[in-house]
Amino acid sequence: MATNGAGELNVAIIGAGPAGYYTAEALTATDRPVHVDIIDRLPTPFGLIRAGVAPDHQSIKNVSRRYEATNTRENVRFVGNLALGRDITLTELRGLYDAVVLATGAGKDRPLGIEGEDLNGVIGSAAFVGWYNAHPDYTDLNPDLRVASVAVIGNGNVAVDVARVLAKTAAEMANSDLASHAAGSIHGSPIRDIHIIGRRGPLEASFTPKELGELNQLENCVALVDGKQLPDPSGDADLSGAQKKNLAALRAMALNSADAKPVRLHLQFYLRPMAILGDRCVCGIRLEETRVEGGKCEGTGVTEVLPAGLVVPCIGYRTSPIPDVPYSARYGCFENEDGRIAPGLYCVGWAKRGPTGTIGTNKPDGAEVALKILNEVSTSRKEGRDGLDRIIRERDLHIVTFQNWKKIEAEEVASARNGAPRRKLTDVHEMVRIAES
Ligand code: NAP
Repeated sequence: MATNGAGELNVAIIGAGPAGYYTAEALTATDRPVHVDIIDRLPTPFGLIRAGVAPDHQSIKNVSRRYEATNTRENVRFVGNLALGRDITLTELRGLYDAVVLATGAGKDRPLGIEGEDLNGVIGSAAFVGWYNAHPDYTDLNPDLRVASVAVIGNGNVAVDVARVLAKTAAEMANSDLASHAAGSIHGSPIRDIHIIGRRGPLEASFTPKELGELNQLENCVALVDGKQLPDPSGDADLSGAQKKNLAALRAMALNSADAKPVRLHLQFYLRPMAILGDRCVCGIRLEETRVEGGKCEGTGVTEVLPAGLVVPCIGYRTSPIPDVPYSARYGCFENEDGRIAPGLYCVGWAKRGPTGTIGTNKPDGAEVALKILNEVSTSRKEGRDGLDRIIRERDLHIVTFQNWKKIEAEEVASARNGAPRRKLTDVHEMVRIAES
């Protein structure tokens, strides 16, 4: 990678997820001496890999080995359990480092913006996925799954993940790292009907063929589609490869019989949520039939009520704002120009471009922002990690190093049930205690 800067550069990356690690990897792949501190508020690295990727998608999680390799470089270090805003301010970090990169992801749910959204039993995917993935923020969510019917809103991969995790049996999840608290609740649940609701049609859906196809291979749950909602095969030649594959999967599902398995997964298109119904707890959702014109959905005025004791909107995420950092409410991420927010302040990943793309999308994204930093930021006499260490000592902060995270990981692996890769710890104090032991 060619860069026009010279001299040593101190960079702090906030957020130890894929975007943060790919940026660190690219920053430290040049001849220029760069020191990178990857700071995370949790004692655990890897962000979305640990707490976002579905617990039964272990092969996707293997990418963390690559981030681990980055962390073995002597000029890269992980500083866990250090929270921006709680332990240190952005102004302080910008005073210590030549560049600060916000790789904070998009951890908040986008609101549906309809009546009834605040009822008990309406749980956005950020919280719901965090709960079953043992994210410390959501351990106590305790969703009531003693319900017969669930509505999952959205036609993206997150909706597919949520429906699949709810539908899989304990045996199907045996090799997963599903949180223990969630396993008990999900596998003891009387759920019989799971509805995935799309406001547009099958051709506009953003789920990917592999993920969609998994829904037709569940042990206890049959995927159902109304064939009348699927386009005629005569138009298939004009479709993209992904659309063709999705349609093939949906057409196979349309042939399934509703009584083939005890649990039914209904993929329903052309329905948009109008209101969530209930008194204190959700009991259903009012939907309006739609038609798609020029790619946009329009209401037809025809409504129906779908009974549901749990509603999980999976309609996208937002980055949490940070005081004094310009924020685009429209896109739910920081305002930036190709990753630059202000001189010396950058963003990457979902915090830069909004919640789109796969884990791999963050690699070129991280490389682009790293190159920008290497080209734009000149070396100064800022203290870098020595200054951070001073603050950590002065404030008696209990940070977790990468080496100490490995103790947490070892404990999780050692206490895993048969077949599972790990039993995730959820209590930050316990994790810090293990890290310091
Ligand atoms: P997404 O792919 O953007 O899907 C969001 C869905 O919500 C869309 O179907 C969208 O419909 C719908 N929606 C938005 N606002 C709505 C509203 N007000 N009412 C009803 N529906 C609404 O996002 P995602 O599923 O959250 O996934 C985020 C990213 O992570 C994606 O890039 C995804 O591929 C990736 N991901 C990948 C995997 C994997 O590879 N296994 C797993 C999980 C996530 P419209 O299209 O009509 O707007």
